[in-house]
Amino acid sequence: MTGITEQTAILAKYFDLNQNGKVLAEYVWVDADGHTRSKCKTLSKRPSSAEDLPEWNFDGSSTGQAPGHDSDIYLRPVAFYPDPFRKGDNIIVLCECWNNDGTPNKFNHRHECAKLMSAHADEQVWFGLEQEYTLFDQYDNVYAWPKGGFPAPQGPYYCGVGTGKVYARDVVEAHYRACLHAGINISGINAEVMPSQWEFQVGPCSGIEMGDQLWMARFLLERVAEEFGVKISFHPKPLAGDWNGAGCHTNVSTKNMREVGGMKYIEDALAKLAKRHKEHLVLYGADNDMRLTGRHETASMEAFSSGVANRGASVRIPRSVAKEGYGYFEDRRPASNIDPYLVTGIMVETICGAIPDADMYKEYARESE
Ligand code: ADP
Ligand code: MN
Ligand code: MN
Ligand code: MN
Repeated sequence: MTGITEQTAILAKYFDLNQNGKVLAEYVWVDADGHTRSKCKTLSKRPSSAEDLPEWNFDGSSTGQAPGHDSDIYLRPVAFYPDPFRKGDNIIVLCECWNNDGTPNKFNHRHECAKLMSAHADEQVWFGLEQEYTLFDQYDNVYAWPKGGFPAPQGPYYCGVGTGKVYARDVVEAHYRACLHAGINISGINAEVMPSQWEFQVGPCSGIEMGDQLWMARFLLERVAEEFGVKISFHPKPLAGDWNGAGCHTNVSTKNMREVGGMKYIEDALAKLAKRHKEHLVLYGADNDMRLTGRHETASMEAFSSGVANRGASVRIPRSVAKEGYGYFEDRRPASNIDPYLVTGIMVETICGAIPDADMYKEYARESE
């Protein structure tokens, strides 16, 4: 750990050097394994919008995103953020992946999601995602757990304060600042029930911006953790046994739900969600069956359920929302490793209505073709 910190201090000296007017743009994309990848391009000036940014490409055969004989994948910039690592005018660019034949790459679920979001723009849908994750050390042991053993059972760790009750606060604080610098709408952080498991929340964000910001926040987390020699796992059940899994609770509202009398619209939405329970679960993350057991603050996968203040239901209506009669609801089913474009996409498809040229269920199936 010390070695890495010293190296970072040395590197910092070079960050004061003159860039001679050039801007460094770190192009980021979603890969085949639900992680981000990135590479850097020198620009002659800072762009004023994503349309100013040049299209680029990468070798998709090295990332499992394309066959060797037709390996070029195109990177189309869709949003950019101030770079908290290089600082100055440097930026991080979020990209969609496109194939050579003009079709979206099979791991590009943003394209379809964006169609649904713009078709239902009038409904002014907001999302808030609660991203839970687990830290591991470089030898793949849960970060700071006793070698060859286990910490004391769960209880003192959730929102814990004090030695032995909270781990890796340095990584989490650094990530929080990195998100703020980048302009991510990060709304909070907390230590989770299992030691070395944490959560950050992003939102409320409207429409397609939700997926964009969550992917960027995940990129920043893995990039920050790299400096500490720590690994990030988004697996929904990183450890078997009596340890909590990791989810990505999805908070949702439409304009109607947020206004006086909105509860009626929340109830309508829940009735629609109940009808498509199984279809939603298919898009709610791999290995989610290991997490949604009906224990550890989850509902079983078998049937859809909802309730006020009920953390054992598929969907929870917060107590304050029930009291006021309007607001939002929380879908507790999505796993920590979801693609937020699939989840926010199917959510809008189900509650606001399907459109002819986007089908999130088919969109997901495309990935396994
Ligand atoms: P929990 O009590 O489930 O742990 P959190 O405080 O962790 O809830 O997260 C709640 C999330 O809901 C936040 O990301 C917040 O931005 C989001 N949120 C709040 N109001 C709304 C709303 N009207 N529509 C959508 N999301 C919302
Ligand atoms: Mn939370
Ligand atoms: Mn949580
Ligand atoms: Mn929650």
